Amino acid sequence: MAEAQTVAFHTLGCKLNYSETSSLSRILENEGFRKKEFEDMADVYVINTCSVTDNADKECRQLVRRIQRRAPESLIVITGCYAQLKPAEIAGIPGVDLVLGAGEKFNIAHHLRQFVKGDSAKICSCDIEDVHEFNPTFSINDRTRAFLKVQDGCDYNCSFCTIPMARGKSRSDSVSNVIKNVEYLAAGGVREIVLTGVNLGDFRPSPALPGGEGAGLSPIKKSDQNFYYLLQELDKIKQMQRYRISSIEPNLLTNDIIELVANSDRIMPHFHIPLQSGSNRILGLMRRRYKKELYADRIKRIKTLMPHCAIGADVIVGFPGETDADFNETFEFLHALDISYLHVFTYSERDHTKALEIKPVIPVHTRQARNKTLRNLSFMKMQYFTELHAGQIRKVLFERHSKNDMMEGYTDNYIKITTPARKEWVNEIVDWKL
Ligand code: SF4
Repeated sequence: MAEAQTVAFHTLGCKLNYSETSSLSRILENEGFRKKEFEDMADVYVINTCSVTDNADKECRQLVRRIQRRAPESLIVITGCYAQLKPAEIAGIPGVDLVLGAGEKFNIAHHLRQFVKGDSAKICSCDIEDVHEFNPTFSINDRTRAFLKVQDGCDYNCSFCTIPMARGKSRSDSVSNVIKNVEYLAAGGVREIVLTGVNLGDFRPSPALPGGEGAGLSPIKKSDQNFYYLLQELDKIKQMQRYRISSIEPNLLTNDIIELVANSDRIMPHFHIPLQSGSNRILGLMRRRYKKELYADRIKRIKTLMPHCAIGADVIVGFPGETDADFNETFEFLHALDISYLHVFTYSERDHTKALEIKPVIPVHTRQARNKTLRNLSFMKMQYFTELHAGQIRKVLFERHSKNDMMEGYTDNYIKITTPARKEWVNEIVDWKL
């Protein structure tokens, strides 16, 4: 592998994947690789895939074809969720050289050193049940905001989801290590950290992990160091100005967490809480761990303490068995709920999931129509939320990146601001009249 000196990355999917790609990039840069843009010529191309994307397979094939046309001699490495779920299928894509599963992706430098280009792709993967390691990763966006992974994997078994199969059992970083990473990022000029994980609210450091008790932390047993505890400890770090919680399951969003956010200057008043359906019957079929009443109660609690809080919800439409009545129930529920925006997903079949056994299957055109209805609802909710705050003064963190002489930033409660670029505002928190 001595001749492989440059590497380029492409990421598909979620924030967690982006943060992992950044870490893969740092690992290889530490090994002497030079990073290139994906559109440039490179010796190695790494595609970090996602299994949630509807056409992961198609997207992956297209990217490989593009690389092959441009750089037929380069090595192509595929990793990420899709690589863990369907390694043989990926290895069969003409042009792919190396497939790295969940347990192997962070050993990428070792695999590249060992690799000899041959006729067929090499698969380095193991059973997901055997993946127990936690690899902390973070990505830095323009040095303003960083996504920091503190938890990985999931022990839930939602019937539509392949993530536990792709990412394995729930596991977390130690609190002391998260603190170390936050301090490191703060020293590098990062102003906002988005805490990410697959099931973030399930944060609980493994007793086997080094670091944890002592080391300047509040005296609490490692087994009690849950997400609430982590937030309390992070809230004490003066050098970091802002945290956001990327997403949290409603059944794990405790009153303690809500109260802490309400009383904190650092943890932003912004929650993203997956709902998936507003029908208890469908929630049951999805094997979600709450009913709509609990969800509504969480929203009420947040809004009582923080009327200005931004709340986003994930919803899946067209899940098998979702009748018109179920969908209307979801619509009415969301319509009445005091939330600010929706992320709407159209259900699509995934191999090896329990949802495949549920009937009737909803026709694709109905799924699409339901998606459109909820996207319209989301647009109206976002507009309403923004208008509600018109005239208020809120704190905006402006980002480094500017396009066409315009710069962007977000208020504490996640309203996007676009304004003509001013150098002195880059990476600064500015009082802003909405
Ligand atoms: S909570 Fe459910 S939807 Fe989320 S990752 Fe776990 S199994 Fe998948």
